[in-house]
Amino acid sequence: MGTVGAKDVPVLMSPDGLRIDGRREDEIRPIRIVAGALRQADGSAFVEWGHNKVMAAVYGPREVHPRHLQENHKAIVQCRYNMAAFSVDERKRPGLDRRSQEISKVIGEAFESVVFAEEFPRTSIDVYIEVLQANAGTRCAGLVAASVALADAGIPMVDLLPAVAVGKVAGEIVLDLKKEEDNYGEADLPMALVPQSGRLVLLQMEGHLTREELAKALDLGVQGCREVHAKMKEALRTRYAEGDGGAA
Ligand code: ADP
Repeated sequence: MGTVGAKDVPVLMSPDGLRIDGRREDEIRPIRIVAGALRQADGSAFVEWGHNKVMAAVYGPREVHPRHLQENHKAIVQCRYNMAAFSVDERKRPGLDRRSQEISKVIGEAFESVVFAEEFPRTSIDVYIEVLQANAGTRCAGLVAASVALADAGIPMVDLLPAVAVGKVAGEIVLDLKKEEDNYGEADLPMALVPQSGRLVLLQMEGHLTREELAKALDLGVQGCREVHAKMKEALRTRYAEGDGGAA
């Protein structure tokens, strides 16, 4: 990794428009999705996305805990996103910090908007996301893993939810930021959408973009989500073509 100017700041964009890992601005890091990666859960998926490694497990619809959260007319979706202590360079303090709570909330809300919750009154659909290795974009990787896990659990939904982050790095709008781009870039915009309608179910933004840059970023994100969606469908097809679900 080359450095310029301030100490330890990497060169994020080469003169011929290549990013720190050699990608073009509209390229996604390699993605591998295994549906049904765990035996004990009702549904599960493992996602490797660049250097991210994320496991998701889904249980339910089942009894609601704690009981007072129960809703008479629909299921609730409870999501817990957690980063393992060993998932980052410097040991992360274990447990749910504010960031994990925020991510759990926005991912849970994204799923609540696509799951046919009225079909399962007074129940809970529990989604667990464990980040084993993190390299930026873990909320998107986690959401993708959880979405495949929900489908694997047979939970009826409008559609799978692909997700990807777009952002601005060295003045360029780019798809799927890796760690250095997230750290030293100008903007980071994770998004998730319903593929058929294009309805956004998660959109967050850190940093600054002009109106034109935002429009360009959203277009690039939609394109990225389509690519991710194809990989999610392929993982489920592979799982069910194998009969009892291969990996686990
Ligand atoms: P996302 O992982 O969805 O991009 P953030 O933008 O909050 O979410 O985080 C970017 C990256 O920063 C993470 O993927 C991870 O590599 C790193 N990171 C986040 N939280 C911590 C932490 N507490 N300690 C060390 N690294 C962290």
